[in-house]
Amino acid sequence: MGLTILVVEDEKDLSELLEYNLRKEGYAVVTARSGAEGLRMAVETEPDLVILDLMLPDIFGIDVCRTIRENDDTASVPIIMLTAKSQTADKVEGLSAGADDYLTKPFSPKELIARIKAVLRRSGRGIKKTSGRKFKCDHFSIDFESCRVLVEGKPVELTATEYKLLTCLVESNGRVLSREHLLDAVWREDAFVEPRTVDVHIRHLRTRIEHDPAHPEFIKTVRGLGYRFETGNFAKTEGD
Ligand code: CA
Repeated sequence: MGLTILVVEDEKDLSELLEYNLRKEGYAVVTARSGAEGLRMAVETEPDLVILDLMLPDIFGIDVCRTIRENDDTASVPIIMLTAKSQTADKVEGLSAGADDYLTKPFSPKELIARIKAVLRRSGRGIKKTSGRKFKCDHFSIDFESCRVLVEGKPVELTATEYKLLTCLVESNGRVLSREHLLDAVWREDAFVEPRTVDVHIRHLRTRIEHDPAHPEFIKTVRGLGYRFETGNFAKTEGD
């Protein structure tokens, strides 16, 4: 079955052009013409990816993006933002609001398709939905039931914090997670931990699971934004 893409774009011509090109690539397409409609459709249609225009008539695209991320039902969907502006500030703001990538208008359909494929590949689409019990890639695996992590078939001892950090990154589906997000998710009740602490634990975690912690393949640093988990080419998940 094909993947579904939600296009949130108020410009009719562009929306139709996107729809045409996406369908031609074999994607199912649903469209929304405003931020509010986009948010509703994101919940109702459970898309595999969202293309989101920055300038919408009712809600600023960045706020739509943030709201999608804050809703548990839609938090993991990959988002590509469209922006008419080329200013770096908007891009960074879009990315820190949880977008996975952005495209500056005008862009060619070919470029868009390439970005979509890259984002879907990076996100290891399907992890969130099927993962229940196990994550597996060529280098290591996580059994979420027993909380066991195997690296090249051998069990590794992770601290509870490292384990939580790792699962948080893996389950984020290739999305960039800020230090603040990780602090919230992992340390929650401990109010006195600084963002820098996240870096220290990430460093430890890398020494446990990466081939070469100095050149991480899985836990990537996204400069100025946070961290992202990349699954590599052989990622797959299993039910139990
Ligand atoms: Ca627009």
